[in-house]
Amino acid sequence: MAGEGDAAHQTHDGGCTCRAVRYRMTSAPLFVHCCHCRWCQRETGASFALNALIEADRVVLTAGAVDVVDTPSNSGKGQRIARCPTCRVALWSNYGGGGDKVRFVRVGTLDEPDRLPPDIHIYAASKQPWVVLPPGARAVPEYYKSSEVWPAASLARRAVLFPPA
Ligand SMILES: [Zn+2]
Ligand SMILES: [Zn+2]
Repeated sequence: MAGEGDAAHQTHDGGCTCRAVRYRMTSAPLFVHCCHCRWCQRETGASFALNALIEADRVVLTAGAVDVVDTPSNSGKGQRIARCPTCRVALWSNYGGGGDKVRFVRVGTLDEPDRLPPDIHIYAASKQPWVVLPPGARAVPEYYKSSEVWPAASLARRAVLFPPA
């Protein structure tokens, strides 16, 4: 298993469909969520959203700029979705809880999305029934505590973002 040493040197490039916006994740993500909530189903028009959680300063624009759209969210705290101003494809979101410090990068916008499979399936209670999770996949009915699930290296990175009071 790769440690933070390897993760620190990983990069992941992505962008929108019209290619006006390009970005780079400058390390591996903290964690990858496959979210089966009804909100993600509606917003993707599909069955789930695949989001790579990463520190905001580890996502750099390499071309173009994003338009940030305030959008309601399940939590009631709202989310801010960064979209290409031209083709309007959504590239990442910031949610109420993580504020501006954590971006939820939409894995499907990466050039090589296969490199980031989900670490956990969340809101599995509203999973569309034809979606069959792989044997052994970690899944929770709703949400979870990162302190109980994330690897130590990701928790250490989170502690830098959100220092204990
Ligand atoms: Zn575009
Ligand atoms: Zn969701």
